[in-house]
Amino acid sequence: MATKSGVDEVHILWISEGMSCDGDTVSITAATQPAIEDVVRGLIPGLPKVHLHNKVLAFELGGEPYLAAFRQAARGELGPFVLVVEGSIPNEQINGEGYWTSFGNDLETGEPITINAWLDQLAPKAWAVVAIGTCATYGGIHAMAGNPTGSMGLADYLGWNFRSRAGIPIVNVPGCPVQPDNFMETLTWLLYQAAGENPMIPLDEQLRPTWLFGKTVHEGCDRAGYYEQADFGLDYNSPKCQVKIGCWGPVVNCNVPKRGWMAGVGGCPNVGGICIGCTMPGFPDKFMPFMDQPPGSTASTGLVTAYGKLIRSLRALTNATVNEEPRWHHRRPELTTGYEP
Ligand code: SF4
Ligand code: SF4
Ligand code: SF4
Repeated sequence: MATKSGVDEVHILWISEGMSCDGDTVSITAATQPAIEDVVRGLIPGLPKVHLHNKVLAFELGGEPYLAAFRQAARGELGPFVLVVEGSIPNEQINGEGYWTSFGNDLETGEPITINAWLDQLAPKAWAVVAIGTCATYGGIHAMAGNPTGSMGLADYLGWNFRSRAGIPIVNVPGCPVQPDNFMETLTWLLYQAAGENPMIPLDEQLRPTWLFGKTVHEGCDRAGYYEQADFGLDYNSPKCQVKIGCWGPVVNCNVPKRGWMAGVGGCPNVGGICIGCTMPGFPDKFMPFMDQPPGSTASTGLVTAYGKLIRSLRALTNATVNEEPRWHHRRPELTTGYEP
């Protein structure tokens, strides 16, 4: 049903039957900006009414009753829906005698319906298509070198120029798993857009929301001050910069150090975890072996070291100076502030 310029009800069809661990669904249960419960219960002003279909969260349904909305959508009989895809897409053209993944069975033949067949049916009918997590966005873990399934990201499967029924490109929200509020904020943008209240969602060339992935981990890291002064940690207990023990933060697009993980707490390097580039299209292969110093950082840390130690010692002198009160703070019977009447 349409409001003045948008819709007032939206279904979210969430498929995690690709090459997935369901970790992104689990991650979303920690979101607070907004919480998925608040969206589903209609507590966010201005959003359309949302009907969520996610198998992990739909504990009251199973089997055919759960599949009903997906079958309805495939027949073109469901109202506007956002298709959320979790997990990478295997190449069913190389599945031998079997299949890689499936979601329900064909009612006539009894054969499993592959994730690829569902995507072929649902994606062209969807109001918007969202890939959640690095597997769905860029292939992720299942698409790494040497895998037997030929797995890929959603845009590799549907095409990078794909447009939904509303003319929206695939929206990629990477992360392994996705940062919960990054996904919920993106979904909220799309729901406001569906309601006619938001403009087109801004995406970068990798189809990520620009306001979430426009900065690097390093630019938001609590430890960046240590890096700048060439004060590097050499073991995982150190509170200092972790670049020499495997942190890729300077070249990775991710806002997790700024945003935290749950309710603002956490954020990989902030709390001692090296950044392994889990949001990136090149993940995991281009960041391996994990925990080795990134090759490109040898030159940059060498340059920083040249002046960082000097800067640090000069700052220590200034720090000692500003840690003392001015000399005119005293109780002697004269005024020494320099005041002139
Ligand atoms: Fe699991 Fe990570 Fe893949 Fe999400 S991106 S399905 S959390 S392996
Ligand atoms: Fe940058 Fe990583 Fe060091 Fe943080 S820990 S300052 S992200 S290199
Ligand atoms: Fe992934 Fe690095 Fe962001 Fe952590 S900081 S979520 S490892 S990209």
